[in-house]
Amino acid sequence: MTRVLVNAYERNPAARRACLAHYGYACCVCNMDFERSYGIHGKEFIHVHHLVPLATIGDAYEIDPIEDMRPVCPNCHAMLHRPDPKRPLPIEGLKNIIAQRTKTADNG
Ligand SMILES: [Zn+2]
Ligand SMILES: [Zn+2]
Repeated sequence: MTRVLVNAYERNPAARRACLAHYGYACCVCNMDFERSYGIHGKEFIHVHHLVPLATIGDAYEIDPIEDMRPVCPNCHAMLHRPDPKRPLPIEGLKNIIAQRTKTADNG
């Protein structure tokens, strides 16, 4: 069972809509697309992740859904938040981890 601690920005429906209108519904880390895998049942299912560590956000912070948010699948979302929910891994960092794993698997 995967638990992900989402923050207030990730629960904001207007921010989510704007983010997904720009990026689409495929995971920015692993390219998982729920509609491709699950058909109509998976249509428009994806999490949105807020890139900016909450600890660095001041009171006057205004969200930019395209700069500050990315669609991610629930697995990648959980991995991004795993080290510390308040200081997620960068997207590129998690992509690199997956790339390393794939390379290792290819080499046997
Ligand atoms: Zn993913
Ligand atoms: Zn997140």
